[in-house]
Amino acid sequence: MAIDLRSDTVTRPSSGMRDAIAQAPVGDDVYGDDPTVNSLEERVAEMFGKEAGLFTPTGSLANQLAIRMLVAQGEELIAETNSHIVRAELGAAAVFSGITTRTWLAHRGLLKASDALDIARPDSGPYLVSTTAIAIENTHNFGGGTIQSMSEFQALRFGADSMGLTLHLDGARIWNAHVASGVSFLEYGKYFDTISVCLSKGLGAPIGSLMLSTKERVAKARVWRKRYGSGMRQVGVLAAAGHFALDHNIERLVDDHRRARKLALALNAIDATLIDPSTVETNIVGLDLGIMPFTATEFAKHCRDAGLLISALGPKYVRLVTHLDFDDTQCEQAIEILKKAFVT
Ligand SMILES: *Cc1c(COP(=O)(O)O)cnc(C)c1O
Repeated sequence: MAIDLRSDTVTRPSSGMRDAIAQAPVGDDVYGDDPTVNSLEERVAEMFGKEAGLFTPTGSLANQLAIRMLVAQGEELIAETNSHIVRAELGAAAVFSGITTRTWLAHRGLLKASDALDIARPDSGPYLVSTTAIAIENTHNFGGGTIQSMSEFQALRFGADSMGLTLHLDGARIWNAHVASGVSFLEYGKYFDTISVCLSKGLGAPIGSLMLSTKERVAKARVWRKRYGSGMRQVGVLAAAGHFALDHNIERLVDDHRRARKLALALNAIDATLIDPSTVETNIVGLDLGIMPFTATEFAKHCRDAGLLISALGPKYVRLVTHLDFDDTQCEQAIEILKKAFVT
């Protein structure tokens, strides 16, 4: 079977997780009767110091419900140019919520609070759109799994408060940020009005995200989740996978990070322009093929033919993501495939 480094979403539920799924107590969640969903929502909200949580099938939906609670129709959300909310949610903020976006570009997706605050325009009057919220991604996916700095979060919160703006955290990979930085979930939670987290990325659940915020916002988001057609029934079978993932798969992310660094070091040894290993902070290895005589798509195809799946995300940019179903043996094999791919 091919080694699959396209994303950390490609993992399959382990047998322990499948047992947890099989044994989950369930009920009709639209009636609020699913004990496993309820306990997951309470558990994750508590982890981040929030009043309430809402289980959603995808991270995109968790993000969209969150920003919908912060930004009214005709108002503006600002976010980094390459953030998931802006680039990878198919214009959902505009399509569903009438939210416009404006963006700032950050090197490797790394937040400088002043970049965001400088373009924010709250209360813009009758001519210009008013900014009401700022969205931040941690870790930053297209930035290469980078971790945001706490001092920038502090500065951002301070500036946002003084301007009357709210803050959303896209924490699809907040688990990776926590494990690599040692910053607690409670500390991350302190700076944001709404948070989304994914159980289906590094944590290895087959599906599931949560939106976290105040009781009031979560109650409103619950109505919108149903309106969007995502009221789910005996979905404790999925929430059980989430509980299992939180119990077993957070601390082991250090292994994914170690393997990502190992890949980066090996690739840097092949050609130093591909990647600076010191920029690999978590489980994402982004390669710059700028000086290579082939495109990202051609390179990805070449690797696929040799048994390694990777993502071509830009004309000259490919991404490798380590995960739960990628071990040390496969890491050695992947390095051998990459070495050959670059010389032939
Ligand atoms: C994967 C991801 C999401 C959510 O994606 P879904 O596929 O909708 O679950 C949100 N934000 C970031 C940064 C992601 O990488």
